[in-house]
Amino acid sequence: MIKITLPDGSIREYEAGITPYQIALSISEGLARNVLAAEVDGQVWDSSRSIEADSHVRLITWNDKEGKSTFWHSSAHLMAEALEALYPGTKFGIGPAIETGFYYDVDFGDREFSSDNFKEIENKMLELAKKKSVFERKPISKADAVSFFTDKGDEYKLDLIKDLPDGSITLYTQGDFTDLCRGPHIPNTGFIKAVKLMNVAGAYWRGDENRKQLTRIYGVTYPKQSELADYLKMIEEAKKRDHRKLGKELELFTFSEKVGMGLPMWLPKGTALREKLVQFLQRAQVKSGYEQVITPHIGHKNLYVTSGHYEKYGADSFQPIKTPQEGEEFFLKPMNCPHHCELYKFKPRSYKDLPVRFAEFGTVYRYEQSGELHGLTRVRGFTQDDAHLFCRPDQVKEEFKKVIDLVLYVFNALGFNDYTAQVSLRDPENKTKYIGTDENWALAEAAIIEAAAEKGLPTVVELGEAAFYGPKLDFMVKDALGRRWQLGTIQVDYNLPERFELEYTGSDNQKHRPVMIHRAPFGSLERFVAVLIEHCAGNFPLWLTPDQFIVLPISEKYEDYAKKVLESLNNSDIRGLIDLRDEKIGRKIRDAEIKKIPYMLIIGEKEMSEGLVSVRKHGEGDLGSMTAEAFEKQLITEVTV
Ligand SMILES: [Zn+2]
Ligand SMILES: [Zn+2]
Repeated sequence: MIKITLPDGSIREYEAGITPYQIALSISEGLARNVLAAEVDGQVWDSSRSIEADSHVRLITWNDKEGKSTFWHSSAHLMAEALEALYPGTKFGIGPAIETGFYYDVDFGDREFSSDNFKEIENKMLELAKKKSVFERKPISKADAVSFFTDKGDEYKLDLIKDLPDGSITLYTQGDFTDLCRGPHIPNTGFIKAVKLMNVAGAYWRGDENRKQLTRIYGVTYPKQSELADYLKMIEEAKKRDHRKLGKELELFTFSEKVGMGLPMWLPKGTALREKLVQFLQRAQVKSGYEQVITPHIGHKNLYVTSGHYEKYGADSFQPIKTPQEGEEFFLKPMNCPHHCELYKFKPRSYKDLPVRFAEFGTVYRYEQSGELHGLTRVRGFTQDDAHLFCRPDQVKEEFKKVIDLVLYVFNALGFNDYTAQVSLRDPENKTKYIGTDENWALAEAAIIEAAAEKGLPTVVELGEAAFYGPKLDFMVKDALGRRWQLGTIQVDYNLPERFELEYTGSDNQKHRPVMIHRAPFGSLERFVAVLIEHCAGNFPLWLTPDQFIVLPISEKYEDYAKKVLESLNNSDIRGLIDLRDEKIGRKIRDAEIKKIPYMLIIGEKEMSEGLVSVRKHGEGDLGSMTAEAFEKQLITEVTV
């Protein structure tokens, strides 16, 4: 008999050779029907693979991250089976699961291929899925694997086998298709009930542009047709909300190849929005005891030698800026922390001075590969809503609680109501790879967990996910389309205080090292605005929106009165504009709707003679007429956060 420990800590005894599927069956038939794979002692396995020794077992279903990736990876095999049946002679590269769905890189030889072929492949996949073919695992020697794929004429698989040690190689077969794979897979193809191929692109074999370009086919599958339908609806909606598209339509930001790829430029309306965000956070930070600082955009090479960034990122990032002076080098700053460490050192600090909290909207530059650049979410220059807190070890918990309050205040004000936190701790089995004393780590880790619990933050704890220099807490928000984004972050750092030899004088009159905490509620303004645009589909909260109202005179006759109305309304609390184009009022309203301007003030004969404005609300319609003063009052109440 062997002992199987389940995630709830319960221990069950079974005959050696029991499979995860059988374990599930011994618990309930319903569970067994849904088991896709299992984690056995930390490794994800086929649910049909036998367990020979005492183990910790976690059964995996569609609801688990690993369940989805196993499902999607297995679907890549199913697609390959369909491709081989439809287009004999197709050669196969790799077919992994991705965040949503899967792809397979294939070589069709001389065959023409386009998305016109998708339908017949989808149909073939569904037809093959109905056969409920089992994914059979077979360990094979390297020599036999080589001979199998030599016979098949699949040079890509042979190229992959080259790097695999003998004894580690397995084949999986479902139906008539056999693939080189280490697994795991779902029990059989019958679980796959809904199929959609999404996209086709070129991809160099092994990412090497000197090698052959293969055809990469992306797809997604689901265990239910309705889940696929929901997903496709979400994709459609996401396209409409794409921040790159809305950024252009709402005139928020732009890029120019002449300026350089990945370097966003903020247009006047985007700048107005961004400034509002900055002011909003600055006000909140002043209340929380932060002090605003400003540091330059570049730093001397020695700064980054001290911080360790030079050694770690020097070669892969923007190259040094040289000066006329021999050997002198500066770098664009990739982060603000080293500068802030030097600010801390400006004068001696006592335990009574701590915490010191330096905040800066610091613009930093990081070289991202051009293929990685994406709208405002992956850029080469961005502004962090950065701050560094220097505190005593006994203050870490209190500081975390304060930062959590601040982050949640920001999320609430901007309509992100669904969030969780991930706490990343060190790997307790491998303490040597982390810098800092055991005592400090224990203190900080406990402080973070307690702070999150006391703030009622829904939290998952990940062991081994901490950086080498300290534990951290990341905020994950779910947007209106159910997508998850990592936004705010709070990170403890024992490394930089050591490298910069930061000190404070303790109550014992001895020198001590402060703990440094990096934190950024938005992360970066660029990325945050991108997420916000997609979350609210460009309908920003009223206080944040660049233009809150637009005055629309019906014809030239009413222009003077309309201008007077605009003048009387524009002030430091609210902002609007006027549409003086020679267009029909219907057209003016439609354009204002596209620009997502919250309020339209329509002015014609009746309004002018009675000294009123007719108010229309974006997405809602007519609100009736009122005086400009009444409208102003209403708007000011609404924009007060
Ligand atoms: Zn596989
Ligand atoms: Zn930092």
